[in-house]
Amino acid sequence: MNSKQIIRMNHKYVIDTYGKQRSLALVKGKGSRVWDADGNSYLDFLSGLAVNGLGHCHPKVVQALKKQAETLIHVSNLYYNEPQVLLAERLVRNSFASKCFFCNSGAEANEGAIKLARKWGHTVGNGIGIVTLKRSFHGRTIATITATGQEKFQRNFHPLVEGFKYAALNDLASIEAVLEDTDCAIMFELVQAEGGIHVATGDFVKGIRKLCDERNLLLILDEVQTGMGRTGRLFAYQHYGIKPDIITLAKSLAGGVPMGAMLAGPKVADIFQPGDHASTFGGNPLASAAALATVSVMTADGFLKNVRALSKYLFADIRKIAQRHGFVREVRGLGMLIGIEFDGPVKNAVSDCLKRGLIVGTAGENVMRLLPPLTATKKEIDEALAVIEAVLEKFENESAKT
Ligand SMILES: *Cc1c(COP(=O)(O)O)cnc(C)c1O
Repeated sequence: MNSKQIIRMNHKYVIDTYGKQRSLALVKGKGSRVWDADGNSYLDFLSGLAVNGLGHCHPKVVQALKKQAETLIHVSNLYYNEPQVLLAERLVRNSFASKCFFCNSGAEANEGAIKLARKWGHTVGNGIGIVTLKRSFHGRTIATITATGQEKFQRNFHPLVEGFKYAALNDLASIEAVLEDTDCAIMFELVQAEGGIHVATGDFVKGIRKLCDERNLLLILDEVQTGMGRTGRLFAYQHYGIKPDIITLAKSLAGGVPMGAMLAGPKVADIFQPGDHASTFGGNPLASAAALATVSVMTADGFLKNVRALSKYLFADIRKIAQRHGFVREVRGLGMLIGIEFDGPVKNAVSDCLKRGLIVGTAGENVMRLLPPLTATKKEIDEALAVIEAVLEKFENESAKT
């Protein structure tokens, strides 16, 4: 099928929850590049929304999938499976965590974290209230849209879940202002991604850890987007010199295969008892094998160091380009999670990038979002920067005319 045919069938048979932001029908990917159904190629600096951290069809992931697909795809969690335990051990060995729970998406991982916090709150904590942040994003289930501090995701779906309240990023006083004796957790993203690429400060994160210790609260970090090497560390909390009680993962975890995980520290690792929570697909052999291959690549010598070097290179050049254009308000982010804020909508600039063969995204109206593959080369980064430079140039000329 060509692109037109695929798109026409999509509009006829698939419920349209994404709308006009989509224009490509993709059929093939390799490394940092994808091809559409008409044979055009694109440099993919959105990485399937941070899922293709290792680029498209990474050979180690493909190899692991092929081998596992020929051996055992699924058994359900009524039985044990080897890839799952190897993955759990690997994640524990490389983090603060004592134990893992596996599921299939970011929303589900957060749902698990919310349930775990509530059970902990009921049994050993003070209550079930959870503080999250304005501008956050935690997923699309009823509990996770409630946790998400953005009205636009919640309208049409009331009544929401009880017990959530919202404070502001990098504003400890706003957290203290909403905290009550009946709360059990504070949950947030270290980089608010969907909310516009806003990075938590060290003082804020350390302050929250202290607050959680003093008030007997769990610190839950949603690392669905920031985890798995995206920020230049395997997990973003490792930049901050603190240990959370729970983190949630998904996106890049299994190299493109749907998978989520909740990692629990010593305080909460044994709170769930048989029957409390479950997932039919969670941690099945196929997804676990893909994730194990992904984590192996990411924790191999020099991989994350190279991501940090690429990030430094990318940031320096983007900042230089941005300085030449008055409408760019700020460049911010961490590692390979980068936002370029304009003083108006970025929609046209994003579609201009696409016309020139570069896929980038948005984070809200005014922020262009870059999520390059962690495996991108300097040459690919240069290619992307040249497109961005040309697009900003054109954007400036056009805004000067109007
Ligand atoms: C993408 C994302 C989610 C939701 O993940 P899904 O797999 O779409 O359910 C939750 N939290 C953050 C921070 C995300 O970036």
